[in-house]
Amino acid sequence: MNVANQLYQLQAVDLAIESSEQAVSQIASQLGESKAVVEAQAKLTLGHQRLEELRHQQDSAEWEIDDLVAKLAIAEDKLYSGEIRNPKELTNLQHEVDGMRAKRNQLEDKALAIMEQVELATASVASESSELKTLEVEWRSQQQQLSTEMEQLKTTLSEFNHKRQLQLAKIDPQAVEVYNELKKQKRTAVAKVEQGICRGCRISLPTTELQRARSDSLVRCSSCGRILFLA
Ligand SMILES: [Zn+2]
Repeated sequence: MNVANQLYQLQAVDLAIESSEQAVSQIASQLGESKAVVEAQAKLTLGHQRLEELRHQQDSAEWEIDDLVAKLAIAEDKLYSGEIRNPKELTNLQHEVDGMRAKRNQLEDKALAIMEQVELATASVASESSELKTLEVEWRSQQQQLSTEMEQLKTTLSEFNHKRQLQLAKIDPQAVEVYNELKKQKRTAVAKVEQGICRGCRISLPTTELQRARSDSLVRCSSCGRILFLA
């Protein structure tokens, strides 16, 4: 194998390493916390807080009603007991009872409205909770898949790196130096020559250059400077 071919093989491995490394960092960025799950958790926490607040309001409203109903019962007993004979006192008591009844109706309406809100909030918490569970299941399975892919990529990468070491050991160090320098400048240091054309810059190569490239020596494209490799 001539030196251009060796460097071309090295380049193939380098490009494979580069793309594996890109895949690794892409997966690494996807591993970890999920924004959707975190948002769904926050939403559910708020839903629970709202429900708790509403239940508290419901309890207060019910206690208020119980309290008023007890007081009303005492007032009604007194009103209908026949014990009060003074007309003014009776009228006053009647007004008091009427007022308490109106207040009770008002409180019952309020309690009913709160109850409806509690039902809505309960349904909403249940749906948010199931949504969160779905997201968590999806996220966990995605994370597992990504971890598996990551493991495979790391194995592949270490195989490529090993292969690279073996290749490097066989190549003339001076040629490797030229290769590394070109790689820094152009990313691809070696250009394949096909039908007399440099694939690096797509320029037709002079015949003399092609002949030199066929030999063992390292020949660079007169146009783009890449190492020429004739397959
Ligand atoms: Zn070229």
